[in-house]
Amino acid sequence: MKAAVVTVGDEILIGQIVDTNSAFIAKSLDKIGIGVIEMLSISDDREHILETLTSLQNRVDLVIMTGGLGPTKDDITKKTLCEYFNDELVVDEAVLEHVTELIEKVMKRPASQMNKDQALVPSRGTVLFNRVGTAPGIWMENQNTVFVSLPGVPYEMKYLMDNEVILRLISKFKRPFIVHKTILTYGQGESLIAERIEEWEDNLPEFIKLAYLPSPGRVRLRLTARGIDEDFLRKSILEEAEKLKAIIDDIIVGYDEDETLEVVLAKLLTEKKFTISAAESCTGGRIAQMLTTQPGSSAYFKGSAVAYATEAKVNMLKIDQQLIDIFSVVSAKVAEAMASQAKKIFGTDYAVATTGNAGPTKGDSDAEVGTVFIGIATPKGVYSEKFDFGQPREKVIERAANKALEIIYQ
Ligand code: ATP
Ligand code: MG
Repeated sequence: MKAAVVTVGDEILIGQIVDTNSAFIAKSLDKIGIGVIEMLSISDDREHILETLTSLQNRVDLVIMTGGLGPTKDDITKKTLCEYFNDELVVDEAVLEHVTELIEKVMKRPASQMNKDQALVPSRGTVLFNRVGTAPGIWMENQNTVFVSLPGVPYEMKYLMDNEVILRLISKFKRPFIVHKTILTYGQGESLIAERIEEWEDNLPEFIKLAYLPSPGRVRLRLTARGIDEDFLRKSILEEAEKLKAIIDDIIVGYDEDETLEVVLAKLLTEKKFTISAAESCTGGRIAQMLTTQPGSSAYFKGSAVAYATEAKVNMLKIDQQLIDIFSVVSAKVAEAMASQAKKIFGTDYAVATTGNAGPTKGDSDAEVGTVFIGIATPKGVYSEKFDFGQPREKVIERAANKALEIIYQ
């Protein structure tokens, strides 16, 4: 898909005005993946225009011209385009009505014949209705090339590009491609992430959109690019993903659409040949369930002891009753002891443990609803972290299990 931009007008060639239209058009086309391979400025000259159209016909799929659509004698683009297509000019009634009305309203006088001639368009052309001026744009097709002629006045040209040309190009040349790229993050909420990436997000090209897809403990950032040229979209979306990576590298865990923390963890553990186990109180086996859902988990996951009641912690996991009495069953010390015991019992490299109060009321301990301690035993030692997972019960359990996997991943 190649395009050429042609600006018509002696004013440009004598240096009286600087051509800014071409840059705007090229940028607009670039956004939808159409590459401009040539920009030309030519004189208001019939033969020169005809010659240019003929030669571009063989080289590009799209020619966008600006200028020379006005009612004055020197504006000959429309006539010449019509001649190139062996067509004739006919009155477009809707444009005539619009021009007459506009002239009467703005100029406070009846429209002259010269004004009315603005409503003349090639009979086989498609009119691009110009609400902000008098000269309509014209769209014509010849074999495989589209020729678009737009007014030279910059704001009129922009209006037609934005409201007519781009949309028609998208529907003519292809249904737009849609390319996604997903970035999976964990450990930070969407508002914090949004703050961190604000500047990058503000500078995203218009054809790339960002969506935040949050779920407990993780936020999926999904980039969606829409346009015509698939390769261009893929390239652009990868570039943006790279920039994003540079900003939030610390919280990114993966890139695949269906990648979850479990999947990423599975890859990591398999690769490093590490084994893990768990001792679960408030998560009631949720960690084990999340891990075993992964095919191939037997390679790294050895088991989980669901020690829900205090007696189970004492009898099955051999947690010292005194420890529970002194520190409470929902405490850092108990979480750490549970993790150490699981590591020992299952003979694994790592073990994770949860003890907390998922609510809705206080249970065996004085801990507030939502308080969860997660203990982790590693080859280097054991430690724990305290969390407040809020409410309700189901969310506390889900968040705690997610967090436990995150901690293992780290
Ligand atoms: P009009 O109906 O106003 O005559 P037109 O389609 O005939 O519009 P031109 O006569 O070529 O367009 O240009 C009208 C004005 O628009 C110019 O005087 C100039 O100020 C501006 N203009 C035209 N072409 C360009 C361009 N390529 N870049 C920037 N400005 C332009
Ligand atoms: Mg003019």
